[in-house]
Amino acid sequence: MAANTFPLTMVHSVELTPTVRQYAFRRADREPFEFTAGQFVNLHWDRDGHRTHRSYSVVTQPGTSDLIEIAVAPVEGGFATGKLFALRPGDMVEGSGPYGRFVLREDPPCRYLLVATGTGVTPYHSMLPDIQKLLGKPGHTAELMLGVRNRQELLYADAFRRLAEQTDRFTFRACYSRELPDDAADWESKGYVQHQFAGLNPDAEHDIVYLCGNPNMVDESVELLKERGFGVRQLRREKYLSARN
Ligand SMILES: Cc1cc2nc3c(=O)[nH]c(=O)nc-3n(C[C@H](O)[C@H](O)[C@H](O)COP(=O)(O)OP(=O)(O)OC[C@H]3O[C@@H](n4cnc5c(N)ncnc54)[C@H](O)[C@@H]3O)c2cc1C
Repeated sequence: MAANTFPLTMVHSVELTPTVRQYAFRRADREPFEFTAGQFVNLHWDRDGHRTHRSYSVVTQPGTSDLIEIAVAPVEGGFATGKLFALRPGDMVEGSGPYGRFVLREDPPCRYLLVATGTGVTPYHSMLPDIQKLLGKPGHTAELMLGVRNRQELLYADAFRRLAEQTDRFTFRACYSRELPDDAADWESKGYVQHQFAGLNPDAEHDIVYLCGNPNMVDESVELLKERGFGVRQLRREKYLSARN
């Protein structure tokens, strides 16, 4: 095993949507996995005589479990997703981490726009207790916008909806790129998630934007927001780019 990696046992997995599966791993060396909500773990494999890895955001909320959970979307012909979808409880994988700086920082009073496509919403699930804590302080609000194909592909919507019902400082919106059901609620709409910005009147003086998931969504959002005066201080992003090997 390479330096700084640790063995992970796959404990169980569950179907989250017709396509996305959530996997729970436990460190087999029984060492703790300490991470900050929003960070990711790397999984490592041998491939054609060399080592390769893929990154997955941690779904688990820190301090709630010793499990490291990830949500994986299938990629046709994908190397790592092929390996992951074939895992059975008890199978081992090599892991490393945590990595990443896509974490919720406590800014002066502001509106957080938390934007994701697909499994890009997992960091926000992990951050939920942090978000809730921040919203308890005066002046902070948050709007979470998730883009998926249709209602069946929604991820963690119940948890986000619950928070939205508890406080009017938090809003959850779902955007469906393929089809809007006839019984759509007021928090559901049709279209690409980045096209929601216009209706939110983003303001670089008062908003901090987090973007996670599909690289095209992230790039398009950044372009739109730059035109409105946003810069590196107000934009935080995690692109789910595929590794090159
Ligand atoms: C920081 C970070 C966090 C990530 N977190 C997650 C996560 O939480 N959940 C998750 O499912 N993925 C996540 N990813 C993406 C993940 O790391 C892999 O890239 C993904 O699972 C595909 O790996 P693969 O080996 O199966 O595909 P590959 O074998 O690398 O790719 C096979 C082919 O599919 C194309 N391809 C790769 N990904 C996609 C895609 N998404 N859509 C369309 N075509 C694609 C490639 O260009 C290539 O042609 C994250 C990536 C990063 C950088």
